[in-house]
Amino acid sequence: MSSKRVVTINNLNHAFGKGELRKPVLFDVDLDILAGEIVIMTGPSGSGKTTLLTLIGGLRSIQSGSVKILGQELYGASKNELVKVRNQIGFIFQSHNLLSCLTAEQNVRMSLRLHQDIPFEQRSAMTTHILEAVGLEDRLNFYPDNLSGGQQQRVAIARALVSQPQLVLADEPTAALDSKSGRNIVEIMQQLAKEQGCTILLVTHDNRILDIADRIVDMEDGRLARDTALVSG
Ligand code: ADP
Ligand code: MG
Repeated sequence: MSSKRVVTINNLNHAFGKGELRKPVLFDVDLDILAGEIVIMTGPSGSGKTTLLTLIGGLRSIQSGSVKILGQELYGASKNELVKVRNQIGFIFQSHNLLSCLTAEQNVRMSLRLHQDIPFEQRSAMTTHILEAVGLEDRLNFYPDNLSGGQQQRVAIARALVSQPQLVLADEPTAALDSKSGRNIVEIMQQLAKEQGCTILLVTHDNRILDIADRIVDMEDGRLARDTALVSG
């Protein structure tokens, strides 16, 4: 495993609201994630996990502290720089956010629109390949409404991974699934990550999937309370 840092966070603080209503939610967060690592973040509801993920993903501006993603400092970054960083990240959310008017294949292919450098035929091949990898080769032309929850979430994973992002941010991707489908989903993510060498930061409450991680970090009241390396087996 290379020791290249994909995520470097120093002294990050964040608050919502202004004046009387100002509510600090992140305190002095420091976190380093190396290339190829799978890090699981746990912690009670309201502890700041989603806020941290959106800051790392360049979806919210940094108020104080330093967040470096793939070599780009996000504090004070321009809109253009933020867009470039976002394009290198695969996002997977709790609810899959698929477009219901598009088929599985079209939903996945759409995320390659951002990558104009990839030739058209190659985009088709990449789309088909990733949908095969998540076991949906016989569902390419299905609309989301005709897929199960687990299948919809697999389309969302395919959509996040099709462009072979260096970093994947997943916010409770198994929350809406039964435990067997949930396990299946994270195993697919783990396998694709190993194949593509990407780094994963995954937020979950699901104790049954912790073993796929290289490291587990616990968030408590806006602070990183514990950082535990797992011996991989
Ligand atoms: P978690 O993902 O761990 O459940 P969040 O990051 O969603 O926690 O929330 C952390 C705290 O920030 C909570 O107290 C929540 O109410 C508050 N919060 C989250 N998003 C917003 C927002 N957009 N505006 C105001 N407060 C927010
Ligand atoms: Mg959350």
